[in-house]
Amino acid sequence: MDKASPLTVWVPLSVWNALPPSTRRHLRDWELTQRVLVLDSDKKGPDVEEILELGFLTALTPPVTDNKVRDAVFRAKEVRGLYDDIFGMTREIMLERELLARKTDQIIFLNTVLTRASQSLEPGRILSDAREDLSLLFPVHGLQGIFWQPDDEGRLEAELFLAPCLDPHGRQRWVEHLMSHGTRLAGGMLDAFTVEYLIQSSPEDCLADPTPQNTLLLPLKVAGSAFGCLAISKDKDLRLGRDQVTSLNAAANHLALALRNAMLFRDVKAKADHDGLTRIHNRQSFDERLADELKRHQRYRHNLSLLLFDLDHFKAINDTYGHQAGDMVLRDVGAILEESCRDTDFAARYGGEEFVIILPQTSEEQAWVLAERIRRKVEHKGFQFSDKTFKVTASIGVATLTPGSLDRREDLIHKADQALYLAKSGGRNMVCVSQGREQMKAAALARPA
Ligand code: GH3
Ligand code: MG
Ligand code: MG
Repeated sequence: MDKASPLTVWVPLSVWNALPPSTRRHLRDWELTQRVLVLDSDKKGPDVEEILELGFLTALTPPVTDNKVRDAVFRAKEVRGLYDDIFGMTREIMLERELLARKTDQIIFLNTVLTRASQSLEPGRILSDAREDLSLLFPVHGLQGIFWQPDDEGRLEAELFLAPCLDPHGRQRWVEHLMSHGTRLAGGMLDAFTVEYLIQSSPEDCLADPTPQNTLLLPLKVAGSAFGCLAISKDKDLRLGRDQVTSLNAAANHLALALRNAMLFRDVKAKADHDGLTRIHNRQSFDERLADELKRHQRYRHNLSLLLFDLDHFKAINDTYGHQAGDMVLRDVGAILEESCRDTDFAARYGGEEFVIILPQTSEEQAWVLAERIRRKVEHKGFQFSDKTFKVTASIGVATLTPGSLDRREDLIHKADQALYLAKSGGRNMVCVSQGREQMKAAALARPA
């Protein structure tokens, strides 16, 4: 409240009457200063209602005695006291309101983060959304992250999520930065890492090399143990307020849960999609992928080829060297198939000692060349188990759908099966196509005597 404003002003009626309307209005607007009208003794003054109407606290009739003045001052003080109380209360209400508004913003922010984070089971998507949502709190230039978990042998493997805008130098700096913080938080060396790139962040993003001033590190914990860390890039001069820090920590807790779930889901899905022995895809994921590839084949009118493998006389391997040796052969053949594939190809264990490879956009000739390459790799590998080294061969059937073909999934598999039958009946350790025997002859010729 304005302590400088006088408690009262005393205005003789003659002066009041002479004042221009604007000055009168001005006087009336003084809230803290009370006006007292001093009437003339010889003239009839306004009545009480008029006095109040004119904005006066009271009017004094002459003679102006001490008592009358004291009484007017007392009343002015009372009114001033009331004003003080009202001002105080108003200020408190305004503060309360501001606090409420801030809390509401905080709840809206956390609700946004939580809702979006729980809408996806893809870590990359969750992080890209989080980058956007955290910008509600302060200007975020980028969000990157590192996560770690033990692999099957108990070694800590890290997964980095980097912004796509980084140049090679920046990428290197951020990898070092995230790995060093990851190692510190994980409490042990991170043995290996893979890098994924986030969905394009704002086009204006161009992340500087990380420094303690331009980077906020948020450890992600579930049940008290850290499994990852977010690195948020910001202006180096930006200092966060207490509310912002509280909101950021709450958001980190939400994100930690959502990211942990997404990673567990991914692990479970990977396990469900892969064969436990060979670690390549299993029959179920092959069926799903083939259905997708058939749709693509029909839509884009590309070739689509399929290789069907069956190891030759595999029963004899088990019988001679034992079941564990057979298992090891299956693992090694699975690895040969994986390493022979392009990113777009899809190798799977079809069952038992049978494997398949889906080859999108691949003609019969190209598929045959790849099949032949794999056949030779298997043939020339010395499989070792205990102190024994032995040879294994494979028969391979090739089937291809040419553009515009309306064959169904079963038709393609049936063709590959027929081709495999040809390879088996033709003497094994060879590649056959379903249409004819020419390639079979070529394969037979290609075989060393
Ligand atoms: P062919 O050349 O005609 O294909 O002869 P084959 O002996 O390979 O074929 P058969 O169908 O008679 O035998 C397949 C063998 O594969 C029998 C089975 O015990 C073995 N097998 C299937 N799954 C596994 C597995 O997971 N591990 C091991 N070690 N053997 C397996
Ligand atoms: Mg078989
Ligand atoms: Mg077999």
